[in-house]
Amino acid sequence: MTDLAPRKESRRVTAPATVVFDVQRVRADFPALHQQIGKHPLVYLDNAATALKPQSVIDAVSSVYAHDCANIHRGVHTLSQRATQRYEDARDKARRFLNAPSVEETIFVRGTTEGINLVAHSYARPRLREGDEILITELEHHSNIVPWQLVAQATGAKLVVAPVNDAGEVTEEAFANKLSARTKVVSFAHVSNALGTILPAKRFVELAKAVGAVVCIDGAQAAPHAPVDVQDLGCDFYAFSGHKVYGPTGIGVLFGKRELLEAMVPYQGGGDMIDRVTFEETTWNALPYKFEAGTPHIAGGIGLGAAIDYLTALEPSALAAHERDVLEYGTAKLHDVPGLRLIGTAKHKVGVLSFLMSGAHPSDVGTVLDQVGVAVRTGHHCTQPLMDRFGIPATARASMALYTTRADIDALVAGLHLVREMFS
Ligand code: PLP
Repeated sequence: MTDLAPRKESRRVTAPATVVFDVQRVRADFPALHQQIGKHPLVYLDNAATALKPQSVIDAVSSVYAHDCANIHRGVHTLSQRATQRYEDARDKARRFLNAPSVEETIFVRGTTEGINLVAHSYARPRLREGDEILITELEHHSNIVPWQLVAQATGAKLVVAPVNDAGEVTEEAFANKLSARTKVVSFAHVSNALGTILPAKRFVELAKAVGAVVCIDGAQAAPHAPVDVQDLGCDFYAFSGHKVYGPTGIGVLFGKRELLEAMVPYQGGGDMIDRVTFEETTWNALPYKFEAGTPHIAGGIGLGAAIDYLTALEPSALAAHERDVLEYGTAKLHDVPGLRLIGTAKHKVGVLSFLMSGAHPSDVGTVLDQVGVAVRTGHHCTQPLMDRFGIPATARASMALYTTRADIDALVAGLHLVREMFS
């Protein structure tokens, strides 16, 4: 099957909220779900853009500002010590979430985008030369394309792209065909945000390692749906965003292998990342602080820790079965809507349904759905080259989370029938 398996029992960090997955009980934890949009209850299907937050995350963030509001790492007073302890505890939760070997290899960043930029600018840019190649895939988010274009422009290296097939998959053959001794860096999405395709990440890492490339994985859409084990994957770098795993915006994590991080020069300088500064020379702080210049998103990191607690406390196989059930139900229901074309029909997918409706522009679809309380995303989903591949400018995208129900899908389908009536 795929690399995305249900979370293991051993990864639990707090008592389980449920043993059998009880979606109504879980929904009660998310205050934003319980509101009306006009006369309609909110049906939130924009989870690939950002997930809603459970009360425990909201409480964790607000308790930082209410009680432990201080800058971290350098303060000797109690508030600073408490905030530092909570922030570093959160780092260890993130380490466990990724099964990273150490907290030194677990770097807090603003999100996936900043994680990839860190790798591009601190690892790749000083090392790549003309004739070298950077391999990505055709389904990447712009944040896993543009940083590599910047590196290519600065170094003379070439950006090489592994194509997707009509189902929205990157086959092993298509990927392997683009690898050669010239490939120095490989960076690909674990899961596609626009199509939901799960890539065979572990196999791709093996193939890339066989030609000696360094591998970075964009985990933004994988981390919310299944456990990530960076040691099992064998990748060199792995980035994800807090806000997609039910945590705050503006915080994320980059895992990097120690030997690579130690050899890298930071691309951002400032407070906290130094050991000793003189006007002549500066030496770096130890890992991971060397890559964390300036005051970090302290409440965000602590909120992310609470989100990881929440997610990993859910019974893993029951959660996976629930998400699979809603995806299969949604796929079948959308197939039955006349004039609807699904974009992205990969065999292995997470809960993302991208589609077109004949006669209606995706933004019209989104606007009509919003009038009946259904929130979907419309547009190119920051994947313009992928849209070009399918010869379309945009799609409407319904993306699911752990609190999504079959009833949400029914509301979506009812809204789509309304779209049909208005535009056919
Ligand atoms: N990669 C993928 C696959 C994404 O879906 C996203 C966000 O949608 C990103 C990267 C960028 O994440 P962020 O904006 O949180 O840095």
